[in-house]
Amino acid sequence: MTRRFLFTVDLDRDVNIQLEGRPEAGSIDRGQGTAPRFASAERGLHLLLDLLDDIGMKATFFVEGRTAQTIDCSVLSGHCIGFHGYDHEDMAKLDDPLPAMSEGYRAVKDNVSAPVCFRAPYMSADDRTFDALRQLGIRHDSSVYSDPGTAPYDISGITEHPVAKGRDRAGRTIAAYLWPLHEGKRIPSDYVELALSSGDNDFILATHTWHLVERRDSGPMSGEDVRRNLSDVREALTGIIDSGYRPSGMV
Ligand SMILES: [Zn+2]
Repeated sequence: MTRRFLFTVDLDRDVNIQLEGRPEAGSIDRGQGTAPRFASAERGLHLLLDLLDDIGMKATFFVEGRTAQTIDCSVLSGHCIGFHGYDHEDMAKLDDPLPAMSEGYRAVKDNVSAPVCFRAPYMSADDRTFDALRQLGIRHDSSVYSDPGTAPYDISGITEHPVAKGRDRAGRTIAAYLWPLHEGKRIPSDYVELALSSGDNDFILATHTWHLVERRDSGPMSGEDVRRNLSDVREALTGIIDSGYRPSGMV
């Protein structure tokens, strides 16, 4: 049996943060306020696409609507395209998520291609989010954490592709998001081991493009840090592939 490896990439505003009392997200304040920035997302996107080309694999990109309108996303041709809200809204906190979901869907459709899947910003989705997906004709979602090895499952007509969250050998919680790897707090083999704990099911790994070049904790990375970061990501991706997983788009 060939197990699928779904590498999923959230393409959204740099180092996004929730802003008190506002539905739209900002970027972390580096001394110039919290207005959304996209420079790291765009730079990281190009570095990541070069890496994926070099490895010879396709990924799934969950594109935020505003990002699709701001940076050139034509470079995503050939990859699986999903969407990720319009202004990185927390859908479960909105009175009605449908307008933001529709706006995000349309922005990605108009600027990239018609999205076929969805990931909720902050992995925050509820029944109304899934209702909105059905109304938009989206049949695949990846907004839920589950134990490693959980097979894709049905939510009233939508296939949920859960992101693994479990424990490593030391008993520490580990999720299949590369966040701690980019921050220098995990090593590539941690994610290969997490994949191997998924049994015969798909393994979904997630990240953000901005995190290739900017750390949440300490800001933009030096050239040397970016090279090390890219090298770590390559080691995680190829380690998973070499363990018997076949890279695939989500849909
Ligand atoms: Zn996001």
